[in-house]
Amino acid sequence: MEISNKSVREYSDWFTVDGIDEDTYCISEYRHWEETHCYLLKGNERSLLIDTGLGIRNIYEAVMKLTDQPVTAAATHIHWDHIGGHEYFPDFCAHREELCWLDGGFPLTLDTVKEMVTDRCDLPADYDVNTYRLFQGIPARVLEDKDEIDLGGRIIEVLHTPGHSPGHMCFLDKGRGYLFTGDLVYKDTLLAYYPSTDPEAYLASLEKVAALPVNKVFPGHHSLDIQPELLVRMRDAFRQLKADGKLHHGSGTFGYGDWAVWL
Ligand SMILES: [Zn+2]
Ligand SMILES: [Zn+2]
Repeated sequence: MEISNKSVREYSDWFTVDGIDEDTYCISEYRHWEETHCYLLKGNERSLLIDTGLGIRNIYEAVMKLTDQPVTAAATHIHWDHIGGHEYFPDFCAHREELCWLDGGFPLTLDTVKEMVTDRCDLPADYDVNTYRLFQGIPARVLEDKDEIDLGGRIIEVLHTPGHSPGHMCFLDKGRGYLFTGDLVYKDTLLAYYPSTDPEAYLASLEKVAALPVNKVFPGHHSLDIQPELLVRMRDAFRQLKADGKLHHGSGTFGYGDWAVWL
């Protein structure tokens, strides 16, 4: 099964693949309530996989149907639902601020993560959650703000965007005006209440991404129907929360129609 037409929407028993353009694909997991999206970006020499999903099914097999290039993986951040397939990609990158989460320091227990894996999920009949492991490892490359990932004729810029997590990164494909936002920006309830989140840093990151020249926004979860104006609306709402003295942990959940934030 070779997918080359951008209009193709391909279903396997687990992954849904949408062609964004002839060199860019979205690989989604709609059978879990989080509706996680990973993105495969092809250059002339190599491909970049942004996030590797839930780890319930083997994303490597899905990726190998889309490219025969060497693949570098880069998670937007080291949360379980973005590193599930990292074990298949030894050439992976991570931000300096989250290296400890790849080395025994992740703040949730394995049992808690397993509950999140099975929560509101139409699991494959043959899947045994007891086989689930939280990925740990040493990245081939440590990333920092403004680094570039060169795919050959296609440069992807790294943006350090903390707030949801300390080492969260967005990835900017300047040539095409694509911004991959991970868990910083999506249409649902943004999470900024965990101890490891930082509401003030969240605002600073939204200031950063809302100022970028972007044509399309590709989130880590939920609806793919996102226009760049959402970045501005989120930034403005966070600015208002700050002005109202509510931009801190424990102040509540605030809804804005097509998105919300839990502080
Ligand atoms: Zn996350
Ligand atoms: Zn996530």
